[in-house]
Amino acid sequence: MKNFSNIQALIIDMDGVLWHGNKPLAGLNDFFDTLREQQLPFILATNNSTLTPIEYMAKLSTMGVVIKEKEILTSSMITALYLAEHYPADKNTLFMIGEQGLKEALLAQNFSLKAVNEEPKADVVVCGLDRNLRWDQLATATLTIRAGAKFIATNSDTTLPTEQGLVPGNGSILMALKTATGGVIPKSLGKPEPLMYQYALRLLNKPAFVTITIGDRLDTDILGSVRAKIRSVMVLTGISSKQDLKNVDYQPTWIMDDIKVLTQAIKDLKK
Ligand SMILES: [Mg+2]
Repeated sequence: MKNFSNIQALIIDMDGVLWHGNKPLAGLNDFFDTLREQQLPFILATNNSTLTPIEYMAKLSTMGVVIKEKEILTSSMITALYLAEHYPADKNTLFMIGEQGLKEALLAQNFSLKAVNEEPKADVVVCGLDRNLRWDQLATATLTIRAGAKFIATNSDTTLPTEQGLVPGNGSILMALKTATGGVIPKSLGKPEPLMYQYALRLLNKPAFVTITIGDRLDTDILGSVRAKIRSVMVLTGISSKQDLKNVDYQPTWIMDDIKVLTQAIKDLKK
């Protein structure tokens, strides 16, 4: 395996890496203490669109970890930035499925959000995970897409790891809309598209070759790293297993059991 060296910044996934649902994984505090001690800058970059950066800060704070707002990047933020660039708010209205994290990011870009059944229909349907999803939201999204609206998704993770196990992720909602629209597939902006990693590098102000990503999911975190040409650590505390590595034609740079092993490797950098 490649030498674990030349590391000046990290882009870290959260679900399945730092916690399962609301349960922190062992070694969480030592991990962040080590990053701070070694003055390694990092961005917490998640495909999960549900929470706002402030809510992620609060969640980490309940686990004893203090994070700055600018250290958090979500697929909702990436999606709102993409929409502002390609479908500006002065010319486009949106219909959104999603939670507060997506809503706030879209409102921050001055988008106006259509209500269920509101006419005229929106120009763009944006879909992120919504854990309070109702049928009438799916119906409005379907009718709006069938009327010709663009279809954009924050991410297409089929599942979400929780303390109870795997539950439906945004990709499952997208499949429902795909079925109902007769096969329309959204443009998805989260990992494995390289956009989030590219934006994180800009925030870190570091080149890709001194940066590493940490993730638990091959088809998002690791594939995205390969596409963005950033070295990656796959941890085995989330979605993907060692067995899954045999079924893909790309690989992480390093495989580690968990953040405890990663923390030790980071401590060893200074020796
Ligand atoms: Mg994850």
